[in-house]
Amino acid sequence: MELPIARFFATSFLAEEPISLRLGLLSNQATENVESFMNKIALKQTRLLAEREIHALQLAKLKQLLCWATFVPYWQVHLQRINFTSFSSLQQISKLPITTRRDLTLIPLEKRSNMAKAKKSKAVIGTTSGSTGHPLQFYRSKISKIRTKGIYQLIMEQAACMGGLTWENSRAFNLGIQRQQTLYPWNGFLWGTKLEETRENRTEFYKILRSRRIQILYTNASYLKRLYYWMDKDGEFFQFRCIVYIAQQLNKRERSELEKFFKCPTLSVYGAQECSVIGIECSGEQGVFHTVPELGYLEITDYGKRNLPPGKIGEVTYTYFENEISPFIRYQVGDRGKIEQRKQCACGGSSEVLFFEGKTAEIVDLPDGSGIIVKAISIAIDEALAGRIYQFQLIQEDHKTLRIKIVPKDNFSDEVGNALVAKVTAMLHYSMNVVVEKVKVIPSEISEKTPLFIKFA
Ligand SMILES: [Zn+2]
Repeated sequence: MELPIARFFATSFLAEEPISLRLGLLSNQATENVESFMNKIALKQTRLLAEREIHALQLAKLKQLLCWATFVPYWQVHLQRINFTSFSSLQQISKLPITTRRDLTLIPLEKRSNMAKAKKSKAVIGTTSGSTGHPLQFYRSKISKIRTKGIYQLIMEQAACMGGLTWENSRAFNLGIQRQQTLYPWNGFLWGTKLEETRENRTEFYKILRSRRIQILYTNASYLKRLYYWMDKDGEFFQFRCIVYIAQQLNKRERSELEKFFKCPTLSVYGAQECSVIGIECSGEQGVFHTVPELGYLEITDYGKRNLPPGKIGEVTYTYFENEISPFIRYQVGDRGKIEQRKQCACGGSSEVLFFEGKTAEIVDLPDGSGIIVKAISIAIDEALAGRIYQFQLIQEDHKTLRIKIVPKDNFSDEVGNALVAKVTAMLHYSMNVVVEKVKVIPSEISEKTPLFIKFA
């Protein structure tokens, strides 16, 4: 088939509702698998599109999303306010308001959803994964599931390629990402917390890795750090070909330490429960994420909710095209980053790329009303304790006490701990007590993310 024709079919395939849903065939698992396979093929084709063609696909998808949104009470009001009939360019999206997770938690789910569609498709309710402290419910969409499964096949192919594997369907193990169990034919799943319980659980897990000849580990940054901790303690090693991790960012030091220990490349994937995969790390350069323009439209905005130009750091704001029941439009995900246009990337691709600045800055409130950015403290801890701890967490218990929980390595000494206490106390203007507490485990939450900072004050 000539390439332009393949691209034309891929574009129209991704622009339309999945065939199995239109024909009502989804009850059949085999049909769903064929459909997600076709999505993968289509997504591979659209990676070859010129920027102009990608924008045309995005505009078509945006129009479809806004059509769906006219049946959703919350969006109906906003669309009426701007006299929406249709958009002729992507930029017209700026007529619509930017929403935050906090804004949306104040609006009942029924007002943010097409309830008729939810009932008809027997949609189940999902929740966000708790990184911003504002949990939000939404209806899961079957369209979203099919597209996400297609993207997952691409991600695992990239991981296989990075690990030097040629066979496409690699054997991958899912450690602890329970909500994503149905997105890929995993060769095994284990609750992340099982590693912490008994030595027998871990021995069993190491045995499974060997007997099933697992090639790719899929997990999040916290469980990966815990696996490193335990394998190091247990004197164990397993040669993965590639490790794919989601949810949190690892800093450069942590990441190179993990890659050195596991002796394989790592691949980071950025997404959100409510918006699927937003960015996949470049195979040629760490910390650079390729966006998935077929599934969503990315903007960077500031606190005043205005658009920022390429190169400027601001709030990651996403319009996800694939949820027809609970639409997410111009939604501030809760992370900060910037967009850059790349003519030629290290991986050979070209498109817009996303850089992160990590989670939206959190603040330790001081008794005199001022605040210190948590990031500044966490950088100080990184500098002071690099190589001496596995993990840390900050807890502001009240206006008087900041607790630093650490999982120490054998070479951690009390002098190092005392020096850190002195440094952080000075950063907090000597107005709070700083306590370093050594712990065995810093538990992750049900959401699978371990918060860096907890505030009870
Ligand atoms: Zn790249």
